[in-house]
Amino acid sequence: MRLRALATASILLTLAAPLASAQSPRQPNWADIERETLEHFQALLRLDTRNPPGNERRAADYLKSVFDKEGIPAQLIALDSNRANVVARLTGNGRKRPLLIMGHTDVVTVDTTKWAHPPFAATRDSGYVYGRGAVDDKDNVTAGLMTMLLLKRLNVPLDRDVIFLAESGEEGNTRVGIGYVTTQQFDKIDAEYCLAEGGGTNRVGGAVKYATIQMLEKRGRGIELISRGIAGHGSVPLGSNAIVHLAGAVARIGAWRPEIRLNPTTRAYFERLAAISPPEVAKHYRGVLSSNPAIRRAADDWLYEHEPRHSSMLRTSVSPNVIAGGYRSNVIPSEATATLDVRMLPDEDPDRFLAEMKKVVNDPAVEVRFTGGAFGRPTGVESKLDSDAFKAIDGAVRRVYDVPAIPTMGTGATDMSFTRAKGIQCFGIGPAIDIEDGPRGFGAHSDQERIVESELYRFIRFTWDVVINIARAR
Ligand SMILES: [Zn+2]
Repeated sequence: MRLRALATASILLTLAAPLASAQSPRQPNWADIERETLEHFQALLRLDTRNPPGNERRAADYLKSVFDKEGIPAQLIALDSNRANVVARLTGNGRKRPLLIMGHTDVVTVDTTKWAHPPFAATRDSGYVYGRGAVDDKDNVTAGLMTMLLLKRLNVPLDRDVIFLAESGEEGNTRVGIGYVTTQQFDKIDAEYCLAEGGGTNRVGGAVKYATIQMLEKRGRGIELISRGIAGHGSVPLGSNAIVHLAGAVARIGAWRPEIRLNPTTRAYFERLAAISPPEVAKHYRGVLSSNPAIRRAADDWLYEHEPRHSSMLRTSVSPNVIAGGYRSNVIPSEATATLDVRMLPDEDPDRFLAEMKKVVNDPAVEVRFTGGAFGRPTGVESKLDSDAFKAIDGAVRRVYDVPAIPTMGTGATDMSFTRAKGIQCFGIGPAIDIEDGPRGFGAHSDQERIVESELYRFIRFTWDVVINIARAR
């Protein structure tokens, strides 16, 4: 999964900051590194790891062979041997707790007929590399791999261990991937910080505008409404009709916008976005930060209509997505149900929220209850804006892209929810992607997928800069 928090294309960014010089001890030979990056990236794209069924073992074996050749200790860890994960580690002096770099090796399925270039051929064409996984997530896997190789070759002294994890099953089978690793093999990846997918760098009209750094994410919970009434003949309408009661309840929930609640990440997000947006849009971002309820409400209304992702970032959101009831036109059914996709703010109290929803439904004929469990993803800690890791990322964004870094909260969930639940501060990063590419059908999970080749190389330099500044010995 790759969800990007992004503003609309209407945002024209004007900020240009001075370049600081990179602070790495020794700079790699980037021309050679680009050739090698392409070789590994294409090799990974050519391994068919579509999930289902996964077969991530193919990618794990490949990665392990590269580590073995380089003399970097690596091992496969697996609940299901066809779906192995691979973990590798470079040892530091232990002054600080480790840094974990993660990427998932599975990709979503493809409809081969929709691809101009075959989905597992890694074709280069007009500055792009095409293939399933090009931006989700074999780019991050490759960046992590190259960073490990560089740290080893340049023999960089480290204040902390740097751990690489390529996990399987991110696209819907976390049980064999991050779920297994965090519950059964956690000592192998225990770290202070982690880097993973979930952020990104946005290009508009070919120019990089800003980078989003994912600091935390919402937590999915299903809630269902069960309306119960008396069954009867359709020719005799009844006041207890379960469909009528359910429809009323769904309509009340649809009109309800739960209270706005900001956290340090979303507050910084809207502040920083406002600073680089034109005044007519910036006023709405500032509006949600206002202590005046009327101003906040007006800004919220505007976002809900024009930038719904931003509206979702303000609150625990509710979307009724499945409705079922009745089976014959002449029978009044005794039961009807609706399933709601609820994305909770990380600090939400689920029981309190459920109680509030019951008040909104306000109908004793309609039961309101959790469907059971979160969507397999636990909740976790928020990454800190004043951490060494965020400072390093912030600096690297300036140095490599010369744009601001904007901390974000994901409205969906990633594998970082598992590592955050174990207390690791995680940061979602990603290469620069044209925001026009998704709507054109070339994004993550689209009918085709591609990456700008030069941006893959720039992402390697970015990841290297981040890791060096978090982990090198001072
Ligand atoms: Zn992904």
